[in-house]
Amino acid sequence: MTAAMLRPPSLDALLASPLMQGLASEHGRTAVLSTARQTLDLWRAQATASAEPAAFDVDHFEQHCQQTLQQQAAPALRAVFNLTGTVLHTNLGRAVMAPQAMAAVLAVMRGAANLEYDLAKGARGDRDDHIDGLLKELTGAEAATAVNNNAAAVLLVLAALAERKEVPVSRGELVEIGGAFRIPDIMRRAGAKLVEVGTTNRTHLRDFEEAMGPRTGLVMKVHASNYAIQGFTASVPIAELAALCKAHGVPFVEDLGSGTLVDLRRWGLPAEPTPAMSIAAGANVVTFSGDKLLGGPQAGLLVGDKALIQKIKRHPLKRALRLDKMSIAALEATLKLYRDPDRLTEHLPALRLLTRGEAEIQALAQRLAPAVAQALGARARVQVLPCRSQIGSGSLPVDLLPSACIAIGAAADAKRAGRLPERLAEAFRALPTPVVGRIEDGQLRLDLRCLDGADAEAAFVAQLPLLQQARF
Ligand SMILES: *Cc1c(COP(=O)(O)O)cnc(C)c1O
Repeated sequence: MTAAMLRPPSLDALLASPLMQGLASEHGRTAVLSTARQTLDLWRAQATASAEPAAFDVDHFEQHCQQTLQQQAAPALRAVFNLTGTVLHTNLGRAVMAPQAMAAVLAVMRGAANLEYDLAKGARGDRDDHIDGLLKELTGAEAATAVNNNAAAVLLVLAALAERKEVPVSRGELVEIGGAFRIPDIMRRAGAKLVEVGTTNRTHLRDFEEAMGPRTGLVMKVHASNYAIQGFTASVPIAELAALCKAHGVPFVEDLGSGTLVDLRRWGLPAEPTPAMSIAAGANVVTFSGDKLLGGPQAGLLVGDKALIQKIKRHPLKRALRLDKMSIAALEATLKLYRDPDRLTEHLPALRLLTRGEAEIQALAQRLAPAVAQALGARARVQVLPCRSQIGSGSLPVDLLPSACIAIGAAADAKRAGRLPERLAEAFRALPTPVVGRIEDGQLRLDLRCLDGADAEAAFVAQLPLLQQARF
């Protein structure tokens, strides 16, 4: 083959083809030009490295450009099927929004909104006005505000109320929440001085009494979200801590973590403390997340005494940590659902998923298993098994919800069966709407608790045939 035959056409000639012109009108000239250049460079590098370079193939070139441009156009952040069995999965975006919350977000995204504008007065307003009434009503607190997440709420409360002051915390509560959120680090960053009180398993009121002094800024209690200390344990009831703080004239602050607004025992779920309970017991400020059990958008909510919330709102960090209009819209709509607790499991997806019955999930698994088996063919063995889902996001770590999964393992005679679960998991993740399961006991397990509704079910089934081409 002569050098001339090997050489590709000019860039201009390549870009003039109908397919490349089509790509330019879809993705823009700039993107197509840079992709074409990169694809040519790739071909040249391969041709140089090879002893017997193949002739330039225009079809290959065009296909490569098309694939690259399509990949670049696909969103990086996208919807997935969460079949991990963890309902509030932090890595998968925690709570699924209620339709009411989605509609509220869309309405304020399209154009201007009265985010910080008082329509009655025609003057500047406060962005907290849209949610603080609801938060007061639902928690019994005097005042409320909100920031970007609960970690931010804890940082802000410490910075606003305990800068250069001491903060006694029980040694049993010096926790790491995950993702490098550690109570001692947050204290330091907020400029507060941590005073460790008691021991890991037992802390008494007298330990706190001894720690109180003129430099005490506040006393903090951190809810044991993601772990449980069992055996010979003791902690101080919040009413006693609150009374001690009151006697010393310092605020009692509780970081509740998940902070559901209703008593979950009503639906047979494990007990989890509510902000209302803490406020009733005398807590002066309570912080909690918007996207854990509450089932709303990412947010950190602060409720408590009026004077303290005002001080928190005036701190410069509040400005840096504030919520945007979309989060406020979603939060307001979510909080409104709590006004009708009787229909909460119907309206709030997080709660609906958590209270979904085993029999319903089991029936769904039985219904879908044949389609999964058919798509995977003879190498895989597909079963329906009972399993346990988790609430997630550090809530209620020891309690598991009975559920059902589609369990996929290697058929008895499959070759390279050992790595099959990992390869299957990869194939499911590569689907247009990625399916994320978990690997357990040498099987890929798809817990169907979070596959919710006829549309989701149909979308899940519709993409299964693509697995026939997958290599696993
Ligand atoms: C989850 C949690 C946090 C952090 O909340 P984010 O909303 O994730 O920032 C802080 N404290 C406790 C006790 C938690 O459970």
